[in-house]
Amino acid sequence: MRPRPGGGHADPVSQTSSDAIPDPVLRASGLTKRYGSRQVLHGIDLTVRRGEVYGFLGPNGAGKTTTLRIILGLVRLTAGRVRVLDGSPGSPSVLRRIGMLIESPAFYPYLSGRDNLRALARYRRLPDSRVDEVLDFVELTSSGRARFAGYSLGMKQRLGLAAALLPDPPLLILDEPTNGLDPAGIAKMRGSLRRLSDAGHTILLSSHLLGEVQQVCDRVGMIAAGRMVREGTVDELRGGRRLTVAARPLEQAREVAGRVLGTDRVSVVDGQLSLLAGDNDASRVNRALVTAGVDVSGLSWQERSLEDIFFEVTQEPALEPAGERKGTS
Ligand code: ATP
Repeated sequence: MRPRPGGGHADPVSQTSSDAIPDPVLRASGLTKRYGSRQVLHGIDLTVRRGEVYGFLGPNGAGKTTTLRIILGLVRLTAGRVRVLDGSPGSPSVLRRIGMLIESPAFYPYLSGRDNLRALARYRRLPDSRVDEVLDFVELTSSGRARFAGYSLGMKQRLGLAAALLPDPPLLILDEPTNGLDPAGIAKMRGSLRRLSDAGHTILLSSHLLGEVQQVCDRVGMIAAGRMVREGTVDELRGGRRLTVAARPLEQAREVAGRVLGTDRVSVVDGQLSLLAGDNDASRVNRALVTAGVDVSGLSWQERSLEDIFFEVTQEPALEPAGERKGTS
């Protein structure tokens, strides 16, 4: 796992102490959005620190895209406040410094990937050499001269990332950058994101793919039904491990373990004790059980994945990556 910038002064889980974070790239508070009578965001707080990769997670319809669009000034807030790169969302000076990938990027199908980027570079008064640099970065140099219409979805996404990178922006906002990609496409995108982060870019990305987020992101915010339900580093969100204990009689074992750890940290799953426990608790619980005459036949640790947490807080299963398709563009 990547070293985590700012990991030494971590937020407590499910709290955003944005005022305590020095020099944030993005600070949003109380984001509220209503479409007619329907409220889709209910006071989201979100802070992204300089140099970090922040993963924004949530099931379909949770409000991820709406939040990102508000940050980019593409959607108007009903209530709340956003400061991004020391400016207001949508202001030209801010937009110039953000690379964005929101939904499928639009390119001319009959032009090559390289010529599409050259057109964008000219519009932005950037040299053609920059086109070659970004094509190389996203590993599209060899197919840069092929027509965009023939690109796979993964290649289209990478060309979209290359376009976002043209002005070398300090902040990247990427909506589902791995959506629809196959495992090879996902791995390529992950590699690009890592290299961008290592080069000092700040990245805010939304995703359904929890394994990806776990590998790439420094901090994660989970939203469900327009509310932020958890925020923290991946380790904070996973919140310790579970200790499974096979013991008989089970009810007596539950009682003894409850006395040692507190009843709220003890449950029974599939006929075994499941304990929310720290490293030193295994021997304490085992000793107490044996002393009480309980027969203990096994103890094992279980790591909680981000997926477990996601399911707990959103009651939604994570989505599997779809196979890579030829896009229609
Ligand atoms: P997905 O992963 O499916 O893209 P999401 O988390 O990005 O979902 P949003 O696209 O932000 O979710 O949508 C949040 C809610 O707002 C959804 O219920 C959606 O139907 C609604 N919504 C989004 N845009 C509009 C709009 N222009 N008018 C009315 N409702 C909208």
